[in-house]
Amino acid sequence: MQIIRTAKRLKQVLDQYRHKSQSIGFVPTMGYFHQGHLALMRQSIKDHDVTVVSLYVNPTQFGPKEDLTRYPRDLRRDISLLKKEKVDILFIPSDNDIYPDGYLTYVEVGKLSAVMCGHFRPGHFRGVATIVAKLLNMVQPDQMYLGQKDAQQVVVLKKMVADLNFTVRVTALPTVREPDGLAMSSRNTYLSDSERQQAAFIYQGLQEAKRICCQTRDINKAMNALRQILKQRAKARIQYAVCVQADDLTVLKKLSGKVLIAVAVYIGKTRLIDNIQFVINGPIKK
Ligand code: AMP
Repeated sequence: MQIIRTAKRLKQVLDQYRHKSQSIGFVPTMGYFHQGHLALMRQSIKDHDVTVVSLYVNPTQFGPKEDLTRYPRDLRRDISLLKKEKVDILFIPSDNDIYPDGYLTYVEVGKLSAVMCGHFRPGHFRGVATIVAKLLNMVQPDQMYLGQKDAQQVVVLKKMVADLNFTVRVTALPTVREPDGLAMSSRNTYLSDSERQQAAFIYQGLQEAKRICCQTRDINKAMNALRQILKQRAKARIQYAVCVQADDLTVLKKLSGKVLIAVAVYIGKTRLIDNIQFVINGPIKK
């Protein structure tokens, strides 16, 4: 595996592959890898001649009171995991390479960035869209792999790619979960033992909400059941719990088509997000 730290060197190396018409898969990450990250890399390795993984903890997507400085990092472990997976290139740009002095340009994906996580993390998706636009320009991949765990991020980035005429194909892969259902996340390491047990109820709540939606088509009943489980079993403080159309994130009043139920909660001091997606076709089958 080649470890590359500058955009200039990355271009030199990738141009050699492009010259031979080899295809490039790309997985943007903030490191501290778990099975969720590795699943994206494995799919890219399967689909492409060359896989590039970027590792950059992007300061512009963290708010002033968020966990940028304490975000978990373990470069040595990350490198050894990627070597085992046979990733071709690990790109670790510096802050200076990404945001040199005088940096001014940001990408805003309108109203998709203002709802859900965007409402509680102003500027977050501006930071995400900006870094991913920059990385796409540096890597120029054929395909980019994202995790469905960050459902709003997928919607925002697909819209950015379409609106700005990036030619990359964007693929979202299913959320990888712990055996008890908790979505894998680098931030799970912040949880104490008891909080970790509580956190498993987040996915149970989402599954229960899906079950009620499918069986009764009653959004209120489903969302009330979800909130109840989050509060009483996960002992979580709910930041939001919404039922929205999966492609444009508009709030659903009636269930039909692609449905996304998404939550952000605090368990203790740790903010966790998760979601469940499903399709509702026609009336209830009796
Ligand atoms: P991060 O390092 O948290 O920025 O995540 C990098 C990529 O991995 C993003 O596309 C995430 O959506 C994806 N990802 C994170 N957690 C999971 C998971 N549990 N399952 C699948 N993909 C994930």
